[in-house]
Amino acid sequence: MIDKPRNAPLSLLVMESLFLRTDLSSTEQSYYCDLKKGSEGEQHFDELLNTAANEHTVTLHDLLFESNRTLFQIDTLLITGETVHLFEIKNYEGDQLFFEGKFFRMPKVEILNPLHQINRAESLFLRMMKKYGFSQNVQGHVIFVNPAFTLYQSPLNTPIIHPTQLHSFLAGISQPTTPLRSRDLKLADKLLSLHTSTPPLKGIPMYDFESLKKGVFCPACHSFSLYVEGHSCMCEVCGEIEPLKDMIVRMTVEVKTLFPKTKLTTERMDQWCNGMVSRKRIQKVLNEHFTKKGIKKGAYYE
Ligand SMILES: [Zn+2]
Repeated sequence: MIDKPRNAPLSLLVMESLFLRTDLSSTEQSYYCDLKKGSEGEQHFDELLNTAANEHTVTLHDLLFESNRTLFQIDTLLITGETVHLFEIKNYEGDQLFFEGKFFRMPKVEILNPLHQINRAESLFLRMMKKYGFSQNVQGHVIFVNPAFTLYQSPLNTPIIHPTQLHSFLAGISQPTTPLRSRDLKLADKLLSLHTSTPPLKGIPMYDFESLKKGVFCPACHSFSLYVEGHSCMCEVCGEIEPLKDMIVRMTVEVKTLFPKTKLTTERMDQWCNGMVSRKRIQKVLNEHFTKKGIKKGAYYE
């Protein structure tokens, strides 16, 4: 039973557009790669968890809470009749070393300690549950999801789950002997109501409409070498064919994501698509898929 699916993180969507439409510095590029990799790891874990989850469990993905004026995020949360499991998912690749309580990317670059992250989330979560009168047992886990990852000198008696342990671990926790009780379902409802949906955007470089590269990119290979034939948009590089209206909706969603505070007009979308389709066609799709506000020259879409 899944109650809250995962959406692609806003920061990843913005960075993906900027990666395609502007020159990012090497630090910004590696930030984009980390976001992408993190998101792929979460998707991979979702798939594994979905096969293990059943009617005796509730799965909530991608939660952001505020407790005592502190924001904290939980990648995935699984409620069973016995325990509330919190998962911190890491898609690291290659070799890492655990030494004197610290994590190092080998040979010796210290990285953020995921055990501290899950401990912090667990303690803030417990405090929040207590505030609302819930007392279920809570367990945090750090999940290393990538099979090409090794942690040397991994400490015992910590909530770390290695890639090779994932299947048996998930099989174990998703077969609880106690069924879900009404207080567990009440907790799930409460958590959904407490979830705050607007995460702060961090690490995003400054950008504006004028300076970004205009034009339409292929949804499959990201090439800008596209042409229109009839009601379709074709990619010269990979041969992808996309219905024209889907392309216009995709570009409009991209502009809305990048510039949520700016009024979206037919003219603006015409500029964004770099004249690839007629304004008439853009207007038709906007009328069909978005809400029109204002009239005549002042018309815009939400
Ligand atoms: Zn393509």
